[in-house]
Amino acid sequence: MASVASEQTVKGGGWLVAETDPATVFTPEKLNDEHKLIRQTAQEFMKGEVLPVVERLEKKEWSLNRELLKKCGSLGLLGTNIPEEYGGVDLDKIATLIVSECIAMQASFATTFGAQANLTILPIHMFGTEQQKKTYLPGLVSGEVAGAYGLSESGSGSDALGAKTRAMKQADGSFILSGEKMWISNGGFADVFIIFAKVDGEHFTAFIVERKWPGVSSGKEEHKLGLHGSSTTPIILQDVKVPADAVLGEIGKGHKVAFNVLNFGRFKLGAMCSGGVKINIEEAAKYAAARKQFNTPIASFGAIKHKLGEMTVREYALESMMYRTAGLIEQRIAATPDKKANDGTPMLLALEEFAVEASIAKVLGSETVDYTIDENLQIHGGNGFVHEYPPEGHYRDARVNRIFEGTNEINRLLIPGMLMKKAMKGELPLMQAAKALQDEIMSPSMSMPDDDGGVLAAEMRACGAFKKVVLMVAGTAMQRYGTKLEQEQEVLSFLADILIDTYSAESAVLRAQAAAAGKQPNADLHQDAARVAVNEAAGRIEIAARNTLAAMADGDVLRTQLSALRRLLKVTPANTVEMRRRLADAVVARGGYIF
Ligand SMILES: Cc1cc2nc3c(=O)[nH]c(=O)nc-3n(C[C@H](O)[C@H](O)[C@H](O)COP(=O)(O)OP(=O)(O)OC[C@H]3O[C@@H](n4cnc5c(N)ncnc54)[C@H](O)[C@@H]3O)c2cc1C
Repeated sequence: MASVASEQTVKGGGWLVAETDPATVFTPEKLNDEHKLIRQTAQEFMKGEVLPVVERLEKKEWSLNRELLKKCGSLGLLGTNIPEEYGGVDLDKIATLIVSECIAMQASFATTFGAQANLTILPIHMFGTEQQKKTYLPGLVSGEVAGAYGLSESGSGSDALGAKTRAMKQADGSFILSGEKMWISNGGFADVFIIFAKVDGEHFTAFIVERKWPGVSSGKEEHKLGLHGSSTTPIILQDVKVPADAVLGEIGKGHKVAFNVLNFGRFKLGAMCSGGVKINIEEAAKYAAARKQFNTPIASFGAIKHKLGEMTVREYALESMMYRTAGLIEQRIAATPDKKANDGTPMLLALEEFAVEASIAKVLGSETVDYTIDENLQIHGGNGFVHEYPPEGHYRDARVNRIFEGTNEINRLLIPGMLMKKAMKGELPLMQAAKALQDEIMSPSMSMPDDDGGVLAAEMRACGAFKKVVLMVAGTAMQRYGTKLEQEQEVLSFLADILIDTYSAESAVLRAQAAAAGKQPNADLHQDAARVAVNEAAGRIEIAARNTLAAMADGDVLRTQLSALRRLLKVTPANTVEMRRRLADAVVARGGYIF
């Protein structure tokens, strides 16, 4: 595998075909003073302003959500990506990630915040005309104006482009919008909506629509499983007259707005989930230290240590992957010639480039937070099942993360699908690498290189092997199914799982290597977390690869592939019991996440 030129790393999926130098990877250990300050601001805001009023939020006092949005605005939290001339504070994407992590302290408010910052402000910043930006951004960024995003309809959720809402063009250039949007966050109180409709029933287009325009109304609040402090309603559009200059982007190009907003939305949702995982680790660690059974704190039982250790490992891999991706997006923006452009183009291009990583963040984040909440609830025993203790609420609130911003099924199909499209366009040398690997596999002397003896060398070698497994499965799938591969959803979903494990495990190893090189005080715990992450990933990858290969080949071909798979994944088992125990003890001693 070629050593990474910086050119390859700043490409989406570049990590798959090249080696990465740990020194080039952004990690939480590299946060600067500005990042730390925004983190402190966001944490203080959540602890001081939001957590004390959760009960009122859950009683649907929507004026309170609006008040909190204004406070967020006054602290600069809504405009981290927005240029100062529109009221923003124009920080980097790492700052955005940090804010998203902190806002996750309260899931309902995080949804209100996300609908405003990610789903309304962002599309206007990236696709709005100068006039639209001047009209809408200052109010939205200050929180004076509340926003919402109307893409889904009762008949079209995953199939968003199948929307039935119509925008009939009038002789004076205006449009008449009619239809009904469904499940709209902030729907009960937003002033401004991004609404997707088909111009003349055909051309999918985004519009900026104001509540005050005649014909716009909210339907009844949905009675939801969780997120009771977040408004979710239908938005009804009854012959709404919308001026010509309300088109956002271009007529017929609404999909560009929708998909690019989703790209960043998915990344930020991954960040929010990562923040949620840390809260659950903290609650679980404190409870396990305080709760005694058999005259012993339950934290000292091996079964509980296993849970605390594994929660920490999974968060370490997720968090490492999130910061690595944010760093890549930043590098990509910095490499854009006109990077100072205030029109949002550099950001748009970077988000398109890392759409695969954004989908990975969404799937891994939402599944890691659900796993951690489940274990937190289990550690709380019977108390975990009752309302007075936090896990019960987390359990209900978090479930939707696997549904919105594109369901995890859809994102799993997108992950390999988008990578293969890049390969077909010649943007990623996947085919060449798969062909070279195929020749290697057929050779009985195929062997994996020896470790160089450096820190986590065996784990890094294993990550190299994971990438070869991706190439083997993807190459076989492309040969077997050709253009019909998109119909083979099970194969694509397994491939997505292998890719998710590969990217996150490698991110964990790179971070732990950087921690060792930087002589971080807890570098040994970084290594424990990375080792367990790789060890567990190897097992899951082997199962996923065996399932896919057996679905695509049989006889001698399958035998050869399975033997190659065994040779590739010959990972020496590590004493993960000991490592998880060390991590759990450190988490309990600290009373929370340790990295
Ligand atoms: C609390 C909440 C807030 C929301 N906020 C917003 C918002 O602010 N704005 C907005 O526009 N929308 C919002 N949504 C809507 C959300 O984005 C959709 O619910 C989501 O996209 C899924 O669509 P659906 O519900 O129609 O499910 P469906 O698309 O009907 O999916 C049902 C199941 O089928 C699977 N499926 C569908 N298509 C395929 C396929 N091709 N291949 C394989 N499996 C498939 C899905 O993965 C899922 O498991 C919100 C939803 C909720 C619950």
